[in-house]
Amino acid sequence: MTEPSDFIRDMIGADVAAGLHDGRVCTRFPPEPNGYLHIGHAKSIHLNFGIAKQFGGVCHLRMDDTNPTTEDPEYVAAIQRDVRWLGFEWGQNMFYASDYYERLYELAEGLIQKGRAYVCDLTEADMGEYRGKVGEPGKESPYRNRSVEENLDRFRRMRKGEFKEGSCTLRAKIDMASPNMKMRDPPLYRIKHAHHYRTGDAWCIYPLYDYAHCLSDSFEKITHSLCTMEFESARELYDWVVAATEVPHVPRQTEFARLNLSYTVMSKRRLLELVEKKLVRGWDDPRMPTIAGLRRRGVTREAIAEFCSRIGVAKNLSIVDMALLEHVIREDLNQRSPRVMAVLKPIEVLIENYPEGEVEQLDAPYWPHDVPKEGSRKVPFSRTIYVDRDDFLENPPKDFHRLSPGKRVRLRHAYVVTCKEVIKDANGDLARLVCTYDPATRGGSAPAGEKVAGTIQWVSAAHALDAEVRIYDRLCRVESPGDGGRDFLEDLNPDSLSVVQAKVEPSLSSAAEGQHYQFERVGFFFVDPDTRPGAPVFNRTVALKDGWAKLVGKSEPVKAEAKPREAKAAAPKGDAKELTPAAKALAEQHALSADEARVISSEPALAALFEGALAAGAAAKPIASLLANDVVRELRARRLEKAPFDGAALGELPPLVASGTLSTKLAKEVLAEMFVRGARPAEIVKEKGLSQVSDAGAVEAAVAQVLADNPDTVARYKAGNANVVGALVGMVIKSLQGRANPKVVNEILKKQLG
Ligand code: ATP
Ligand code: MG
Repeated sequence: MTEPSDFIRDMIGADVAAGLHDGRVCTRFPPEPNGYLHIGHAKSIHLNFGIAKQFGGVCHLRMDDTNPTTEDPEYVAAIQRDVRWLGFEWGQNMFYASDYYERLYELAEGLIQKGRAYVCDLTEADMGEYRGKVGEPGKESPYRNRSVEENLDRFRRMRKGEFKEGSCTLRAKIDMASPNMKMRDPPLYRIKHAHHYRTGDAWCIYPLYDYAHCLSDSFEKITHSLCTMEFESARELYDWVVAATEVPHVPRQTEFARLNLSYTVMSKRRLLELVEKKLVRGWDDPRMPTIAGLRRRGVTREAIAEFCSRIGVAKNLSIVDMALLEHVIREDLNQRSPRVMAVLKPIEVLIENYPEGEVEQLDAPYWPHDVPKEGSRKVPFSRTIYVDRDDFLENPPKDFHRLSPGKRVRLRHAYVVTCKEVIKDANGDLARLVCTYDPATRGGSAPAGEKVAGTIQWVSAAHALDAEVRIYDRLCRVESPGDGGRDFLEDLNPDSLSVVQAKVEPSLSSAAEGQHYQFERVGFFFVDPDTRPGAPVFNRTVALKDGWAKLVGKSEPVKAEAKPREAKAAAPKGDAKELTPAAKALAEQHALSADEARVISSEPALAALFEGALAAGAAAKPIASLLANDVVRELRARRLEKAPFDGAALGELPPLVASGTLSTKLAKEVLAEMFVRGARPAEIVKEKGLSQVSDAGAVEAAVAQVLADNPDTVARYKAGNANVVGALVGMVIKSLQGRANPKVVNEILKKQLG
């Protein structure tokens, strides 16, 4: 499969073409072995291994194991199994950050010798205090100017174990006034008197991520270090460490948006909590978004690959709809799952005119017409069968095409039957049904002139197998679990698993672990490893009903990027009546929508920004919309509790859009940059030259160029095809790197086209 390109592949393609690193491409996938991999990791694995393959390079598998207290060899083994299962091979290139401890230590001594690192005795709390606030410089540590000798001596004693945990750290000596908080003398080493799963008790100081990661990349001669957006502000430090240590190989970090999926949770901390509190059966519980869980549920590696390809790779933050994943799974299973019959809620049906003791073996193809596969099995038919309780209604509505008194229905692959009698038990509950069958309809054909609208599945009572069927549903009952400060455990779906004892057709006696089936009219099922001879266990991978296709219209295959379902503003929907008093007051006072008021009032960080912006004279409405949509999304995606800028700075953004200086798209870029650097919008616009090209001269030149380059398109326009204007506008905007105001371009274009 060739991957569609994306900004990272484009960048690497250009690097290769330019001969960077002699055209060599080396990526890495660097999990910390503190949990199982999840579908978000699959996105990163597909990206890193996929790029290595595409460019004839290699991808390393590296355990980013620098935290002794959370890591475990069980996780290493699980990670390796999952990466292999996804279809990727690292060959000789398995690495451990813990193998670099000695080299990392030596480079740290080197930094001390160069006067670029020092041992600091501030407590963690004091260090936080000294770091200062965004927009205000921090204070220098009183230990910052220790001599090289003293620092070396102390660092060596740290290593020897002479100090207590938390009593000191090794810090980089950079700049306590840097606008990037990450650069305010970040810690590089901390003391941990803990046993490490690989290095045992050899060390009691451990390097921090920002120090160990970039150097590991350098040691392994990684060319492109791809990570998720939350590391964007750490890039400056990444580059600083590589430069300051003077390691010969310089890798480059590029960030992309992490995958977020609705109706589930994806942080390893939360997944671990589910496992430890036994809210699921383990890391491979089919409700978990882990690779192991998806595998056990019956999701194939091909479906995961297809999903990763459809969601694409970009920088903008969004939540992918779970319905898209389910849709892709269904498409994949449709082609590989033979159709069989199972009755999940059995109710007995006596076919009173069918000869007692007789058994017919009916031929039943495994595949529907639209799957180009052959094969069939025999299903036994007899006088007593089971059908699903839900396929019978005593008083049906008009469009109910299943069983009801006096009505005819087709039994799949068998006969048309008529419901004659309903037998109840002492409580008045349905006990069984009595039907007659029509011998002329063998195989399911209706008699000439008659239309039998409904077809239902069934199994012969005497021949059916008992099976345990585990019906899995989504892990969480809301789109964004844990939103608005709730404990995500409150959002777990209480009905995420129901177990039923089903009756299934006898051909399933040969069902072996790992096989996929479609239970007709029910869903796709997968044989669970708990299956024992004569006691099959099936997991529902996914139901048949496709929520995604309904959502986007069935006609065309869907690209997730084409229809992003953006992270919804926080809380569940509802009208103003359900607002908290604080939200209600906010909505009324500033004429905000209920959703805006709810989101802003639910997070103190947002409320503070709102107030700050108003105090600085900003208009309430645009700020509220910015906060409730974009700011909240950035905060979540970056896992921040608080934005690194104040309300006054945020208040400068909407006027830049209103005046036409920024398009809404550029405004989003500026906002993202504000999150990275904590700078004010105007500074960012100026520095990055981000403002729209509204200078008519520049646009005129660009339009003229595009028209000159595309004589065919111009000819089509002149021949009366006005539709091509859109395409031309697009070309002009692209030639101006997206920085042109479409309205201005349109006007100038029309003028030049005459
Ligand atoms: P978590 O936040 O769930 O603990 P993590 O990022 O800490 O995840 P790591 O083991 O450090 O987990 O992740 C290994 C790699 O996978 C990193 O490069 C990380 O950026 C990437 N990754 C983790 N989660 C996602 C995700 N949801 N989407 C894409 N990539 C991800
Ligand atoms: Mg991590």
